[in-house]
Amino acid sequence: MAAVRSRIAAACASAGRDPSSVTLIAVTKTYPVSDVRHLLSLGVTDFGENRDQEAAPKAAEVPEGTWHFIGQLQRNKARSVVTYASMVHSVDSPELAKALGERRQGTPLEVLIQVSLDDDPQRGGVPPGELTKVADAVLAMDSLRLRGLMAVAPLNDDPGVAFARLERYSRMFQLDHPDATVLSAGMSEDLVEAIACGATHVRIGSALLGKRPALR
Ligand SMILES: *Cc1c(COP(=O)(O)O)cnc(C)c1O
Repeated sequence: MAAVRSRIAAACASAGRDPSSVTLIAVTKTYPVSDVRHLLSLGVTDFGENRDQEAAPKAAEVPEGTWHFIGQLQRNKARSVVTYASMVHSVDSPELAKALGERRQGTPLEVLIQVSLDDDPQRGGVPPGELTKVADAVLAMDSLRLRGLMAVAPLNDDPGVAFARLERYSRMFQLDHPDATVLSAGMSEDLVEAIACGATHVRIGSALLGKRPALR
């Protein structure tokens, strides 16, 4: 925990940024809820999960956490996700935006559009040229708030180069959507590059909790 905080602080210092401008999201997927409670006791407030089946019970056990949904999301899971998520990072189609918006009740759901930094459909996200189409679908729903963009670095590309491209997309997007100031980028391996390129939310799993067992 201290090691991750100090990496974030160092990355902010070299980018000339205030550390309070970066929110640490602890990605607790595959880890038990006891780890969530431990992190909470250390002052972590924000948690990320990528599968509804796992996220829903954990969020129910730790309602004092702020829960972020960061994984690819099927429309039929929207009904469940809107009950516990504060922010969904992975909106990637007008249809998903509509499904979330129709089901959300109470405080608006904060939404990021996931942008693809390569052409690999497996990694999720919309091509930069389709951001407007998805943004319009989010804006059409009163129960959603368009907060910004999210991306995952491509596998075979320098994350610094990919995130520099992401930063340009974010700047351009904010010309049309001045409230969309969130940029969710950076994981354990590339948080420094992400912070250099303006990330406001970093999603950190293994550097906090250790290596996960092989992905299911
Ligand atoms: C698992 C995951 C993370 C965290 O990855 P680490 O390398 O463990 O820090 C971040 N973002 C997404 C979308 C993830 O699925």
